[in-house]
Amino acid sequence: MCFMAPTYQLSSVDGPCDQWATAVTTPRPAGQRGSRSGVPPLLPGNHQRADRQRCARNDSDQLTTTSSASNLLQPATGKMGLKTTIIGTVLATLAANPATAAQPRAARPIPAPMRDLVWGKLNFLHTTDTHGWHAGHLQESQYSADWGDYVSFAEHMRQKADDLGVDLLLVDTGDRVEGNGLYDASSPKGKYYYDIYKEQDVDVICTGNHELYIASTADREYERTVENFRGRYVASNLDYVKGDGERVEMAQRYRRFRTKNQGVEVVAMGFLFDFGGNANNTVVKRVGDVVREEWFQRLVREQEKPDLWLVIGHVGVQMEEFKTVFGEIRRWNGDAPILFFGGHVHVRDATSYDERSFAMASGRYFETIGWMSVDGAIKKAEEDPKGERGLSFHRRYIDNNLLGLYHHSGLNASTFHTEHGKNVTSMIAKARKELELDYTFGCAPQDYWMTRSPYPGPDSIYTLLEEEVIPDIAVNPKRKDVPRLVIANTGAIRFDIFKGAFTRDSTYITSPFLSVLNYISDVPYHAAKKVIKLLNNAGKIMADAHMDNEFMAIPEQLSTRESIIYDTPANPFSEDGIQKPMGQHGHEEPFLVEGYTTRDDIGDDGDDALHSRINFYVVPNCIQSELSFPEEGEPETVDLVFFNFIQPWVLMALKFSGAVYTDKDVSLYVEGTFTELFAGWIEDNWPAKC
Ligand SMILES: [Zn+2]
Ligand SMILES: [Zn+2]
Repeated sequence: MCFMAPTYQLSSVDGPCDQWATAVTTPRPAGQRGSRSGVPPLLPGNHQRADRQRCARNDSDQLTTTSSASNLLQPATGKMGLKTTIIGTVLATLAANPATAAQPRAARPIPAPMRDLVWGKLNFLHTTDTHGWHAGHLQESQYSADWGDYVSFAEHMRQKADDLGVDLLLVDTGDRVEGNGLYDASSPKGKYYYDIYKEQDVDVICTGNHELYIASTADREYERTVENFRGRYVASNLDYVKGDGERVEMAQRYRRFRTKNQGVEVVAMGFLFDFGGNANNTVVKRVGDVVREEWFQRLVREQEKPDLWLVIGHVGVQMEEFKTVFGEIRRWNGDAPILFFGGHVHVRDATSYDERSFAMASGRYFETIGWMSVDGAIKKAEEDPKGERGLSFHRRYIDNNLLGLYHHSGLNASTFHTEHGKNVTSMIAKARKELELDYTFGCAPQDYWMTRSPYPGPDSIYTLLEEEVIPDIAVNPKRKDVPRLVIANTGAIRFDIFKGAFTRDSTYITSPFLSVLNYISDVPYHAAKKVIKLLNNAGKIMADAHMDNEFMAIPEQLSTRESIIYDTPANPFSEDGIQKPMGQHGHEEPFLVEGYTTRDDIGDDGDDALHSRINFYVVPNCIQSELSFPEEGEPETVDLVFFNFIQPWVLMALKFSGAVYTDKDVSLYVEGTFTELFAGWIEDNWPAKC
């Protein structure tokens, strides 16, 4: 079997096309309007306000060096037949074995042509930015496995590693909370999540920004997850401030251990990007400062060097923070392998910083389980048969699809599910039931997309908000006749709406934040009308005032800054530009579900399942509705209404427009969180039954 080591083409990352789901676009029905009859409570006592700032800089500077790992691979341990990275024409098809487990109402998985996993001496499974989606994607067949299925999968893969005499480690890089009813719908939040999550045997784990926005979330992270993973939780640049004011390390700064089968000595660290929006019971140290701290310098300069450095972090793999850590380790560790697992940017991505390093990020929302393998001369004194210190790296983005998990583990519906995995699936089902996550507010008449269809447009979720939802919910009875501009940031919406039942779960999936509508009354219109333009187009001006506009948009746009639109239906079967049919027998084209077709710095063969491509339309930072305007002419003054999250930007934009206001001029415009108001609107406007 011939093995082609990857050539690392450090081409520009024009943004992996990171979308999902089946495309069902039906014509938009005539706009339905109705009066609202009150706001249904999503959950009692759930009105805690969160002032949050989201995201961080993603420096997308491209690497400028090119490296190659050609000829570096030897046939590994001899026990393993390494497979080619070129796709096998295997359909993960189990028609005779209908998939079981996952959640009771989850969409049935659909088979897809698969690329196999490449095993090495050291192998990793990686999750990141799961944001509470541990029940899987109930409405999307290709991501509908749940955390219990992942538990079963990891157990089988560990067994396989033992059989091969190699090692498997599990990594998680944070943002495990906020974004799904399973976490957000309970009171307190995460009532069920912590116990479900800890059932997975994760070897190295760190914190994301979403664990830190709200003080009580950070408390629970420290008390529950850090405790559940003691010895494996690493916090290289994060401190926690206890109730009595004592400041301690969130968890140990690093972990030193030896792998079970290969005996590779590893030093693992865990970083969070330079995040400033945390509540005051944690302290995030800047990565650039931490690498100069005494403990870090001692570690990287130590005489007794480990075989391999494992840097995990809630950091995009193109971000400066990882490059800083890499540079400092490499400075003192000439040829040690350095591996990076990142997150936060919500994309599938991989790169290498030099020929003995490799970095990957594994998407978001438990759509993806990342796979990385390293082979060759990993240990300090090791040489390959040619007397060289060759290394090879592979990455695969595994869809969280039961059929794919069966395929990669070589099992089927009757042999795959372990007792442990099934128990976790039951825990999730029970929690969902107790939280009534399947309670239906209404039936979505069509799909509404964040970025898969253009804004403005009939299929855009933002057009739905701007033209139908906001005009109905942004109403203050005392000021309903006052002309007003209502501004919403697009980042407040976190997921698409699918045609069909819009449930309690959907409300948190679409809008997990506790945003409310604030306003400033009687703002001169000549100033107010400039605000939206400044928020959307004056990034430079605002950035100079230390207000980075991109933080108002969706995190996916931190790495995908331009629309990706395919002229013709894409041919996903093409490798090297040559069209090859991928049917099971070489002459039939399989049906492909739309989904990830990732292109990263390593190439375009990362996804385990072949999907057809999906367009990505960049959306503005903010949208605006003009309401109660006079039939003719312009109003002299307006009420300026906006999501509280963007208040600092709105005040700054007003200042640039010549109208100076402060926080004292701002009040609440309408009672209830946006999430609650939106759910109420759906109950009033969409049919009750599907
Ligand atoms: Zn995230
Ligand atoms: Zn994040």
